[in-house]
Amino acid sequence: MTEQRNDKRISRWIKCFIVLYLCLMGVAAVHAANYVQRNAEVSTSKVLVCTSPNAYAFHSHYCRGLKRCTYDTVTMSRSQAVKRGYKACKICYK
Ligand SMILES: [Zn+2]
Repeated sequence: MTEQRNDKRISRWIKCFIVLYLCLMGVAAVHAANYVQRNAEVSTSKVLVCTSPNAYAFHSHYCRGLKRCTYDTVTMSRSQAVKRGYKACKICYK
């Protein structure tokens, strides 16, 4: 009889442990997601734009499209580039 009660108590502890474990994993997952999101924002917030009057695209990196640019290359935020009428480069943003 007492043994059975002990078993019940143990199973309750295991349940508690599992719930706690899941909570911790959930918190860790949220933190990881936030971290990834923040990194993605940093990598997309700045873009490269050729100052040529014929340039129409902004670039995420010095791609082959941007290498054709014979003018200066400037860095600006993506929203700024969009506001100025630049489109996402087809090579950088597939
Ligand atoms: Zn590009």
